[in-house]
Amino acid sequence: MENLRASEAQRVILDAITRQDVESVSLERSLSRVLGEDIRANRDLPPYDVSAMDGFAVRSADVAGVPVTLQIIEDIKAGDMPSRVIHAGQCARIMTGAPVPQGADAVIRVEDTQVISPSSVQIGNTASAGNDIRPQGESMRNGDVLLKKGTEITPGVIGVMATAKAAQFAVFRRPSVAILSTGNELEGMGDPVDPNKIPDSNAYALMAQVQALGIEPVLLGIARDDPVELEQYLRLGLQYDVLLVSGGTSVGVHDYVRPTIEKLGVQMKFWRVAIRPGHPLAFGVTNTSAVFGLPGNPVSSMVCFEEFVVPALRHMMGHRRLYRRTVTARLAHPVESSQGRTSFIRVQLTGDSAGYVASSTGTQSSGVLLSMARADALLVVPAGSNGIAEGEDVTVQLLDGTVFQETIGFRE
Ligand code: AMP
Ligand code: MG
Repeated sequence: MENLRASEAQRVILDAITRQDVESVSLERSLSRVLGEDIRANRDLPPYDVSAMDGFAVRSADVAGVPVTLQIIEDIKAGDMPSRVIHAGQCARIMTGAPVPQGADAVIRVEDTQVISPSSVQIGNTASAGNDIRPQGESMRNGDVLLKKGTEITPGVIGVMATAKAAQFAVFRRPSVAILSTGNELEGMGDPVDPNKIPDSNAYALMAQVQALGIEPVLLGIARDDPVELEQYLRLGLQYDVLLVSGGTSVGVHDYVRPTIEKLGVQMKFWRVAIRPGHPLAFGVTNTSAVFGLPGNPVSSMVCFEEFVVPALRHMMGHRRLYRRTVTARLAHPVESSQGRTSFIRVQLTGDSAGYVASSTGTQSSGVLLSMARADALLVVPAGSNGIAEGEDVTVQLLDGTVFQETIGFRE
């Protein structure tokens, strides 16, 4: 199979997976989930015209010429219902959120008035009809769709849901995710330190990347480069909605991942993507699972997760914004291109008055994980580029944060 471009590989993945079905969740547990149903307003809010200020409810005709003195006939607090009609020459003292009495059509805020006696007030400002009144239904109208299926549940959305008294509602399920490391050289967290071995960092970095999306993954452990052992682990992993396997996906003689997952009935969609780091990236599906064969190199594994697994998991969870947010930054130093491959360079972002400034986190060797640990963003160097000069504007993908965007956001 030939090399796919990054955007093509993402398209293949998104076409091959399906969104999860929905489950019911309580408002209190719903932050960051995605609505699986439309939410409608069950009342008008405010329920009637209310005052937007502390002040006096007046007839606008009465305040056409000011100053004018009006008779105070009632005090209306929030939660009270007015009992009297405002006639010519009259007004009511009114508090923010209190219903505007019949006859009144404007509110004069208290700062523009002067109380003369317990029953009279001088109005200093004119006001047209509707002044400082929040009309009935301004916030929501009974029966209106307030929030559509597919809405990401942010704190603001939670507030709106509470207003609509939505205590329990449908959200998209989160996929179950399993993580498997492969390689004879790997040492598990609980194993004694062996100077000849390599600590398994991928499982933990991937775990955290999955957790950052709101999913608690299962760590399956380390499979040796042995077809029988690998098959056992992969069988187990295929019981999850998504299986992330790192290592063993190249074409070395001991890279058994590909033949073994094919033997288990996984339909492979691709094996190579024209990116750097992360060239040996594999993806396949069964009827119930999606399998990502991530490169063993720790940086490559994390970068491939960002570019390919993040959009997939977010799609499964019902999100419409699948991609990391991109911003434009000025390059602090020249960077080389990686002929024919889209490259993702780990950068730190600082800012000056002109905007973001991007500078490399140091060696870009795909084995040096500190370059990722220090990174705020990935600088995307298009495959066709001949390198980028210092001071040029570049596109960078922000690595943290909860804000995503609908489009892929970089050119190749
Ligand atoms: P592979 O893709 O299996 O050829 O592995 C490429 C490189 O990544 C090798 O140097 C491996 O030792 C290293 N590697 C593979 N898996 C892991 C892992 N889970 N944690 C840290 N390094 C790994
Ligand atoms: Mg290996």
